[in-house]
Amino acid sequence: MEVYNDQYIGGRWRPSVGDGVITVINPATEDSLAVVPAGSAADIDSAATAARATQRTWGATDPGTRLIHLKAIHEGLVARRHEIADTMTAELGVPIGFSTEIQTGLPIAVADSYVEILADYEFTEKVGNSTVYHEPAGVVGAITPWNYPLHQIVAKVVPALAAGCTVVLKPAENTPLVARLFARIVHEAALPAGVFNLVTGLGSEAGTALAGHPQVELLSFTGSTAVGRSIAELAGRDIKRVALELGGKSANVVLPGADLATAVTVNMAYIFSNSGQSCNAWSRLLVHQDQYEEAVTLAAEAASTYVPGDPTDPETLIGPVVSARRRDRVRGYIQQGLDAGARLVTGGVEAPANCERGFYVRPTVLADVTPDMTVAQEEIFGPVLCVLAYRDPEHALALANGTAYGLAGGVWAADEQSAIAFARRMDTGQVHINGGRFNPQAPFGGYKNSGVGRELGRQGLEEFLRTKSLQF
Ligand code: NDP
Repeated sequence: MEVYNDQYIGGRWRPSVGDGVITVINPATEDSLAVVPAGSAADIDSAATAARATQRTWGATDPGTRLIHLKAIHEGLVARRHEIADTMTAELGVPIGFSTEIQTGLPIAVADSYVEILADYEFTEKVGNSTVYHEPAGVVGAITPWNYPLHQIVAKVVPALAAGCTVVLKPAENTPLVARLFARIVHEAALPAGVFNLVTGLGSEAGTALAGHPQVELLSFTGSTAVGRSIAELAGRDIKRVALELGGKSANVVLPGADLATAVTVNMAYIFSNSGQSCNAWSRLLVHQDQYEEAVTLAAEAASTYVPGDPTDPETLIGPVVSARRRDRVRGYIQQGLDAGARLVTGGVEAPANCERGFYVRPTVLADVTPDMTVAQEEIFGPVLCVLAYRDPEHALALANGTAYGLAGGVWAADEQSAIAFARRMDTGQVHINGGRFNPQAPFGGYKNSGVGRELGRQGLEEFLRTKSLQF
């Protein structure tokens, strides 16, 4: 087991202040993988001071110089992609196929997209008798979750660096190892000391210290709505900018005439990949009442292909959830759904067969779910699909929009135009039409309680800029 006691601050690894530690657990085996320091407020202070000291200089570099470093980060990610995928499989329990293709492939694509965007971006523009300057927002505090541990880091850090900001990153306590690997890649990309800093630690200590630090000018947070709210409150006190990527309860709406079998099969990938721990998971399948039983049967058939197993096996499609706490929470939701009258189509609260060790949850389909049930309203963040019936498209829209969230969704219809028209009326930030692919350059973010601000693409870069206009 590796034992680390250092943080990446001011361009070098230095001993963490304080004696707190985090033991990283392999969710598939429950074995201890490594120990990393639980950084203190003093570590955050050193990191923020280092980031502040270099911010003006880094912010004043020409974009071409920053582009060289961005390219080096992208190359480092590509060069270490197998090490990255193996690390995430070990600390998150995500199957190696998904880890390689999506958990590693996506951040590589995002880093690459910022090389392209930065190469063309106009940081200055003329508006009448004004020159408008898009300047770096300053020192960024980035707080990330464990479910897409590298993607969330790259989606914040890379555009922030491209914009000329400096960064202090506090990754999730469950997945610090890939964050340390990312810090090594940044180090190898030879950024000036202090431009990027990593402090591993607990949200309750390092996270709150970062959110409240006076040197931090912008907080970019991905995680739960509850923590996002507390961060926004802290930021409001000091008039700091915030970007919040929060939870979701996304609906996949299958309109009459759509290809039901494909819509249901694709839904299964959205809810069971990554063990349902995706903020944009389609956790609610909305089907017309006349096709309801057919959809439930299709869902059961598709679910049977997701057999929980060893995430290092390339054949495995679904691994454990991240922790014992999350496993218990997800099973608690399944029980709550059953107690409220939902029908168990497949899955359930017991451990899956041959998975006595590890934090496994049975891929579960709940039918006869009604919108008043907790399982229809709250984010379960596990492999649990709720199937709801609607009477007509207006009812489907009311159900789709009838939660506190608004992050993502899907619409399937016989023709693309009807699906687009329906999607335009959904209160949600991103919708896939008839199975349209995820686009790493399209803005990503939520409506309502799913957050404020956008990541990815040009808008993701602009989150880290502020605007000045000179009139002459
Ligand atoms: P949390 O909100 O618990 O944690 C997210 C991060 O915030 C972690 O680094 C955590 O540290 C830290 N944190 C916790 N408490 C505080 C605090 N008081 N002040 C500052 N930082 C704090 O979420 P989860 O890690 O459990 O992630 C799951 C949630 O994130 C789900 O609701 C999911 O939908 C959402 N999410 C949203 C995404 C999006 O793009 N919209 C993407 C991914 C996830 P620690 O690890 O120590 O707890």
